[in-house]
Amino acid sequence: MKSAKLINSKVVITDVEKPRLNSKGAIIKVFGCGLCGSDIVKIKHATPKDESSIKLGHEVVGQIVEINTDTDFKKGDIVALGHHYPCFNCDYCRIGAYSMCETFKKSNIEPCGFSEFIKVDENHLKYTVYSVPKNLEYQEIAYLEPLACVIRAIRRAGYTLDSDNSKSNSLVIGLGSIGLITAEALKAFGVKAFGYDINKGRTDFAKKYGVEFKKDSYDCIFMTSGSSKAIDTALEYVRNGGKIIVFSSVENDSGYRNNDIYYRELSVIASYSPSVEDYKISYDFLCNKKVNVSDTTTIYSLDNLPRAIEDSICGKIFKAYIKI
Ligand SMILES: [Zn+2]
Ligand SMILES: [Zn+2]
Repeated sequence: MKSAKLINSKVVITDVEKPRLNSKGAIIKVFGCGLCGSDIVKIKHATPKDESSIKLGHEVVGQIVEINTDTDFKKGDIVALGHHYPCFNCDYCRIGAYSMCETFKKSNIEPCGFSEFIKVDENHLKYTVYSVPKNLEYQEIAYLEPLACVIRAIRRAGYTLDSDNSKSNSLVIGLGSIGLITAEALKAFGVKAFGYDINKGRTDFAKKYGVEFKKDSYDCIFMTSGSSKAIDTALEYVRNGGKIIVFSSVENDSGYRNNDIYYRELSVIASYSPSVEDYKISYDFLCNKKVNVSDTTTIYSLDNLPRAIEDSICGKIFKAYIKI
């Protein structure tokens, strides 16, 4: 079967053996997989030594073709899924730092999302696999995992679904696909959401979703841009006593601003990857159309994955979905 691999810094579609089900879990025929910003970061920064361990693609939609499970999933189910789950037992899990858990980091789909078939294990079926509802396009439900990441960031900022967030405002810096769905999800939490980007194409696109920029002081700033300068913009617009959510890697480390943080009593909080609870909320938001992700994706074939990556890097498209 076809599967994408990183060889000598290039993404190539290779012929590999189809995964086999030799323990509890399922084999899924992949219909499509979203291209994540983290895939691009991996491609850009991979050293020849770690290339073989790099897995590209984790925002999968597909159909269960073989299954051995204690869960309710069955052969023929069409599902969307993400790739990591925690152990719920270790010291990281105990403090809710699920994405730092060893099991979380090790768990993955086999061989990778940009493949004709993948294998998931029993814990994936328990924690990260969801049935696809009839009212969504595959490329929309493929947002299950990235939206779950976003929801973790919003919850790390202290917003909950039970609290009245209507007086609170947040600014999202960087209006790529993650930035835009962060603004969309903030609205679903009842927060007044605004967006900032130096790229006019992106700010115009965001306007269609009701996300605009206003010069103001904000309770919370979400940094989703890969730019090292985002921290300066964040410090300009965060209100004293407010929060900055670090939600992206940057090209060059931008330093630590002790006196801003101290005298202005700012909270700087990072959010990395989703927890199991975030998947549940993400699934609810997508199924009930509480976030609008329609018309955000460009569809490519698996053979055109290298082109999709190029187009994403140069900002020609917003979000790529690879149809397999
Ligand atoms: Zn992702
Ligand atoms: Zn753990």
